[in-house]
Amino acid sequence: MELSYRHFKLSLQELWSAKRHAASFNTTRATYLRSRIIALSYVWAALTLVWIPVDNLTLDTSSYSLTILRICLAATLFTIAHIVRSRHSLRDCRIALVALVMSINVFYLLANHVLGYPHTINTFVYCYTLLPFLHVIMLTIFPLSIRESFSLILATALTQIYVDFQSGFLLSLDIFAIYWLQTVVGFLVIWAQTSKLHMMLRLYRHATLDPLTGVYNRRMLLTLAKRDIENTRTRSRPYSVLLMDLDKFKRINDQYGHFAGDMVLQAFTKTVQETLRKSDIFGRYGGEEFILFLPQCSAENAQLVATRIMSNIRDLAIDVEGVSEPIRVTTSIGISTSLSTQDSLHQLLEKADLALYHAKHNGRDCSRMFDHCCDDVQEKHKRPWLEAAN
Ligand code: GH3
Ligand code: MG
Ligand code: MG
Repeated sequence: MELSYRHFKLSLQELWSAKRHAASFNTTRATYLRSRIIALSYVWAALTLVWIPVDNLTLDTSSYSLTILRICLAATLFTIAHIVRSRHSLRDCRIALVALVMSINVFYLLANHVLGYPHTINTFVYCYTLLPFLHVIMLTIFPLSIRESFSLILATALTQIYVDFQSGFLLSLDIFAIYWLQTVVGFLVIWAQTSKLHMMLRLYRHATLDPLTGVYNRRMLLTLAKRDIENTRTRSRPYSVLLMDLDKFKRINDQYGHFAGDMVLQAFTKTVQETLRKSDIFGRYGGEEFILFLPQCSAENAQLVATRIMSNIRDLAIDVEGVSEPIRVTTSIGISTSLSTQDSLHQLLEKADLALYHAKHNGRDCSRMFDHCCDDVQEKHKRPWLEAAN
């Protein structure tokens, strides 16, 4: 095994589509997309309305219809901004983004229809034919995957091709120059959006993962667990917490060196991860302490999970370069389960910590349930790091 920061590396698939993104990242990106959709809708609606007097002064017959179109577009954009305000899922934000792009595309289509598909009548009319450039460029503010970005640009491109077909421009030679420019702009926009997504994914990983083991760091662990426990509480389901602490880990560092200790931590997390369900939340709480949150898991099942983890860890033989024999470790586990649906994250952690304390005092390499070992949380030795979870 080799020490590496491979957890932070991104694959092309992650840039291609959002399928492999973590649910927590999707929530973060949705927040980011939502605020930009709202801002852009307001700005675009305002610009649309501001141009009405210019149309009235520069165009003759069609200005009345265009005014109506502009008011309709502004109203649609305000509605999108209003609706998306209360939507938090990535799916809803994506739908809002599609609605935003399609509404301005439809406006472009109808405006050109009202103007009789113009090209060189006068500069003010000609500007209407250039709208697709703006539609594509405005997308640069969104962090999107290549697929998302390509789909939105394609929708704009198809609208433009239809308008050009109606105006007869599609068959002219000049079209190549325009389409060439559009294609270059389209690629640059996809590049900009994907770069934004890439940067966001990287920063998100650095902020939420533990660099040594690649599992959630303490901050992310507590944030996700808090959200999870609140959801579970509203549905009155049991929720279990396993607090794990490697036994005599200091001795491994002292005997084999810090590097070997790091290898053991990596092997430990990999082994625990192999036993997890998709809904479980696992992460490094600090040092050689790890937490596993088990949503909708009863005390009995939590005990079974703990037994399986301890057994897998016991069977682990970790080969480290420069160390003659495989290193072996064991872990102690404290378990607490919220049955009353009243326990906060802080209380659950405090109970699991007390149970772990008892497991250690019982000879290590064993697990203890909070209920079996102690009834009184007050007798617990105080550990300052638990305060942070409150
Ligand atoms: P116990 O069975 O009572 O838990 O004994 P212990 O030796 O595991 O407990 P203690 O808390 O005294 O020691 C934990 C050690 O973990 C001390 C610290 O040097 C080591 N440690 C913490 N973080 C890391 C890390 O990232 N890498 C390595 N190699 N060691 C770490
Ligand atoms: Mg410890
Ligand atoms: Mg320890």
